[in-house]
Amino acid sequence: METIARGVNERLRGDCIVEAWFGRHPEPFKTPAARQAKGLEGRVILSVHRTGKHIVCELGIAGGSVNTHPRSPQQAKIACQGPRSRKNKSAARVGHPGSGLGELESEPEAQWIVHLGMTGRLLVTTPDAPVAAHTHARLSLTSGRELRFVDPRRFGRLEYRELSRRESFRAQGADPLAVTAEEFARLFSGRKLAIKAALLNQKLLSGVGNIYADESLFRAGIRPRRRSGRLTRAELEGLRLALVEVLEDAIRLGGSSVSDYVDANGVRGFFQLEHCVYQRTGLPCHRCKTPIRRIVVAGRGTHYCPQCQR
Ligand SMILES: [Zn+2]
Repeated sequence: METIARGVNERLRGDCIVEAWFGRHPEPFKTPAARQAKGLEGRVILSVHRTGKHIVCELGIAGGSVNTHPRSPQQAKIACQGPRSRKNKSAARVGHPGSGLGELESEPEAQWIVHLGMTGRLLVTTPDAPVAAHTHARLSLTSGRELRFVDPRRFGRLEYRELSRRESFRAQGADPLAVTAEEFARLFSGRKLAIKAALLNQKLLSGVGNIYADESLFRAGIRPRRRSGRLTRAELEGLRLALVEVLEDAIRLGGSSVSDYVDANGVRGFFQLEHCVYQRTGLPCHRCKTPIRRIVVAGRGTHYCPQCQR
């Protein structure tokens, strides 16, 4: 998720949305498609980042031809019409020396929130690239590129928020890559919840998926069904470090290809995170050769080594 957000941010930061097209299936649209289209068209993408399990595009008012190589002057004009269009264009150009990024540092006025779900993908491509089946949204951009949302199973969600009307979107849980040891320990103290369930609870930690929960519990040597509140401070710190390790590995390797996530180019990662326990039921543990066991915790398939995890 982090990898996707970074990839999209690198490619689209500063680009303008010329036109938004939405498919006919209503499921992916948390905000009605027509309202999303109206809100998105003419906006500039200030930044793209990950918040928990969501990818958030921060949007501002388009104030110039902010990305390089506009497809045609006409498109650029459409994208950047409006009262601010006569401003010095270089002021907003990405990475222009001395420009200070101009308007890209301005406060966002709206957000486009993408929840990829199980099978959702964000693709940065060109309008002439073949349109995949199950494409639910296409945003044409001033740069001539196109941002597409593809989701065969339609578990993903697209949402548009005006920040003036509603509070900006924030995940409720702590960011596992940023949380301190003290904060991490406090999240779980006194809780009867199984530690695996607690790790998946987005109100406690945001963005920890099933694979990463199983893998970090293995690395920390903790059984998934242990009560959160019964873990010692040392165990919790071991778990925090294991989680950081697993998430950083996953980011470095471009995400685990077990889910249908691909990078922002639409390339399915040929990297696969080397799983120690996840979906290795019955196979020998890499560490001790004991067969990996599968149980269900919080409704999710959970894998652990009965020997290495206590
Ligand atoms: Zn083992």
